[in-house]
Amino acid sequence: MDSGARSDLLIVGGGPAGIAAALWGKRLGLDPLLLEAGSQLGGQLLRSYNQSVDCPGFYGLVGTDIAERLTIHLIREGIRFRTNALVTQVDCAARKVVVNETETLTGRALVLALGVRKRRLGIPGEREFAGRGVSTSATRDKGRYAGREVIIVGGGDGAFEESLILDEAGCRVTLVHRSGTFRARPLYRDRVLTHPRIRVMTHTRLLAIEGSQQVERVIVERSAPGEAPRQQVIPVSGVFLALGVVPATEPVAGQVERDAEGYLITDRHGATSCPGVWACGDTTRPLLSSLSTAFGDGATVAKAAFDWLMAQKQ
Ligand SMILES: Cc1cc2nc3c(=O)[nH]c(=O)nc-3n(C[C@H](O)[C@H](O)[C@H](O)COP(=O)(O)OP(=O)(O)OC[C@H]3O[C@@H](n4cnc5c(N)ncnc54)[C@H](O)[C@@H]3O)c2cc1C
Repeated sequence: MDSGARSDLLIVGGGPAGIAAALWGKRLGLDPLLLEAGSQLGGQLLRSYNQSVDCPGFYGLVGTDIAERLTIHLIREGIRFRTNALVTQVDCAARKVVVNETETLTGRALVLALGVRKRRLGIPGEREFAGRGVSTSATRDKGRYAGREVIIVGGGDGAFEESLILDEAGCRVTLVHRSGTFRARPLYRDRVLTHPRIRVMTHTRLLAIEGSQQVERVIVERSAPGEAPRQQVIPVSGVFLALGVVPATEPVAGQVERDAEGYLITDRHGATSCPGVWACGDTTRPLLSSLSTAFGDGATVAKAAFDWLMAQKQ
């Protein structure tokens, strides 16, 4: 259905970057419409359980509190937003989006604030046991696994930091990584690799997560260089996935320039390769993925889009 609805600034993604773009769009006299796939605004803030220490003005608040403040801010400013509005298709050249596969909306300018989502393993049991032994946050779930065997999958900062968090919470921790090298910074890496209680299994892939009501075991395959692959069953109660993130840019694949990993390529003001379309926040692979960066990026694209719209009128 083409609802015929047209906004002068159509923003896809209701995380910090999209919210900042909406606020600045309004401030510049535009009438933004913000579309968010989830049931709440906030993006990654909704799964950030640490207290903020690095974002100016939000000291001590956890992600959900910040998300709530941002939502109230939009409401007070009278900015239109829609949740449960998954954009399934985008026509960048026409600045048209399809929401929930049924409704078409058009923008005079389009902002992509799509953010990132957690990378998945795509193995049996991963989805089935989500919340029943499979977790993506040690900070949130550590208390449930004290005194129990847990496995952490990954080789970056997240996996190493989570290993330490879970060990401190009294879990018996095994870190599993598919290769023999780690992306994690030395600060975390050295502490884990020399830790007396944390077991590290390199060259090991998770093949399946199994159990009945809850996770009970994982099947792994170890294939060290020069050795024949060997499968092993490890009894565990918890599986923590710390596999990093991927940009949520599938809806614009082939329409705007992306890098090899799918992040959107923009100029310094957030312009994509398609005229009239801007991108901001984590979806553009910022040097620092953070709230501060997302807010700044969002404000910048709103101004760039505003200038472009004004130029179109002349
Ligand atoms: C656990 C954790 C802790 C963190 N701690 C900090 C911290 O202490 N300090 C700090 O500065 N930063 C922190 N961050 C990073 C910060 O949260 C991100 O950098 C920031 O959220 C990026 O904002 P964004 O709007 O670019 O993307 P996101 O927050 O990823 O938001 C993107 C939004 O777009 C929506 N979306 C995507 N595709 C579609 C679609 N097709 N249709 C509709 N909507 C769509 C998503 O649902 C999402 O809501 C943390 C992140 C995590 C995960």
